[in-house]
Amino acid sequence: METPRLTVALTFDHDAISDSVRRGDPPVKFSHAEFGPRVGAPRILELLQREAIPSTWFVPGHTLVTFPESIEAILAGGHELACHGWYHEDFAELGEDEQRGILERCVTAVRDVSGMAPHGHRAPYWALGSRTLELVEAAGFAYDSSLMADDYALYRVRHGDVHTVADGTRFGAEGALVEVPVYWALDDWPLFEPGPGRDGLAAPSRVLELWLGELRYAHEHAPGGLLTVTMHPECVGRGHRMAMLEQFIAAARAMPGIAFERLDTYVERWQVDTLGQGGRA
Ligand SMILES: [Zn+2]
Repeated sequence: METPRLTVALTFDHDAISDSVRRGDPPVKFSHAEFGPRVGAPRILELLQREAIPSTWFVPGHTLVTFPESIEAILAGGHELACHGWYHEDFAELGEDEQRGILERCVTAVRDVSGMAPHGHRAPYWALGSRTLELVEAAGFAYDSSLMADDYALYRVRHGDVHTVADGTRFGAEGALVEVPVYWALDDWPLFEPGPGRDGLAAPSRVLELWLGELRYAHEHAPGGLLTVTMHPECVGRGHRMAMLEQFIAAARAMPGIAFERLDTYVERWQVDTLGQGGRA
């Protein structure tokens, strides 16, 4: 397919109760998380089906095995399944063997439910240890979506950067892993959900202003680019926020040359195009 003027990727981190199980959360936090598979995800999937929009779902292993009907609905809608830890672990806090074990277990779980190995990985909390992305690449993933060194353009992840106060910075070499950049202003969670150091519960009009600002700027200044929005079913699935997501989709539809796409197919096309320009596969 011809590269659109701008591609929009709607991505959903389907955390459900994975994090609450690991942390031993109190009942109200569990119930907040349960809203995701119970209400948010079906509501989102209905909207995506109505709009004929393919999307990408980053799903912890615990969600895959605990809410099989939710996963079936995602697959039935033609959406992409990608990995997001098992119990929504903070990879920065884990040893390399533990990280490797989680990644392998997640890949197997996605293959078991979908028949296909996942292409994509997003670290829970976007939290990475210094070598996590080397492990992600070694586990066979084509892309990661946890970093923010670019906005509308994909790039190859560097491995082995060395930073020292005495000798400054020596950058490592690029690997094969492709990065799909993210950013806080394009994530529903820090804007809508209360948390340490923030009030959350933003008016949807404020979030829509941020997202439309990104959409219009990318459309004008980044031809062929990708705008990636990160959302969570337990967050964006609330009624007033769903109404905002509908407005965002309608605004994108009204602009010429905008397509909605899954990340795996966009990344695959980018890899082919990059290779055509003398880049690496
Ligand atoms: Zn998450």
